[in-house]
Amino acid sequence: MEEIYIFGHKNPDTDSILSALVLEAIEKTMGIYKAKAYRLGEVNKETQYALDYFGVKAPELLEEVKAGQPVMLVDHNSFDQSVKGIEKAKVIRVIDHHKIANFETHEPLFYLGMPVGCTATILEEMSKVSGIKIDRITAGLMLSCIISDTLLLKSPTCTERDKIAAKKLAKIAGVDMDAYGLDLLKAGTDLSDLTPEQLINIDSKPFTINGVKYQVAQINTVSIEDVLKDKEAMEEAMKNFMQENKVDLFVLMITDILESNSQIIVLGKQEIAEKAFAIKLENNTAFLPGVVSRKKQIIPNIDGVL
Ligand code: MN
Ligand code: MN
Repeated sequence: MEEIYIFGHKNPDTDSILSALVLEAIEKTMGIYKAKAYRLGEVNKETQYALDYFGVKAPELLEEVKAGQPVMLVDHNSFDQSVKGIEKAKVIRVIDHHKIANFETHEPLFYLGMPVGCTATILEEMSKVSGIKIDRITAGLMLSCIISDTLLLKSPTCTERDKIAAKKLAKIAGVDMDAYGLDLLKAGTDLSDLTPEQLINIDSKPFTINGVKYQVAQINTVSIEDVLKDKEAMEEAMKNFMQENKVDLFVLMITDILESNSQIIVLGKQEIAEKAFAIKLENNTAFLPGVVSRKKQIIPNIDGVL
């Protein structure tokens, strides 16, 4: 049987890498497909913390897929955010919790999309429906995804279903959710050895609407002030990125995961961001109290203006 590739989006976060591993485990139990998890980029420190904690190896890096390659997408659907060659691959499954955009297939597929905070929450429901028992390690990986995507159940993207799943998974994994969660999130805020280029790419996603290309990146921190020390260097990196990728607008969110606020740095068509968030940028930057979610508090506003 042909091997099927499972992967999340580029610039992978914890949900993208660990949900791919979880789906691999689920597929193995179901025994219909021979599927293997891959990643589309470097493993960040938060994800590495979870992998080490549960003693799991990171999936291999995937650079490109050949025409006709069967694939399963987790944590994304937009081809902009997917692997090189995706347009000609055969998408047989999508498990995702994002808006559907830039996505088209030539054949029918299994698409499971739910408006919840995390892909792992959907996988938890999927295994429940399929009667699959989740083991301790898989539960730990799933819990890590939920903690990461919902900032320990505090993000406005977090739903009742995520909370119920997280509680259940923490029990199976045998961890104290709050203690483990804080350690996990904090591991991701160690930015000490990253270059400005790496900083703006830790968690960066492209979007296109009505011909306007924009990029929204997010950096999690416990001190916005600390990250802002590199503001000029990051702006330089953002400018270079915009030139190379012909991007019209770049919004960088620096998110305080403890206080649940974000500082944004905006370059390019700044008037769009000013209108979207009803703010006046000063020195390319503004403070957005209570804003932590790109998906719910940034993208819809920008799309609304565009
Ligand atoms: Mn993600
Ligand atoms: Mn996700």
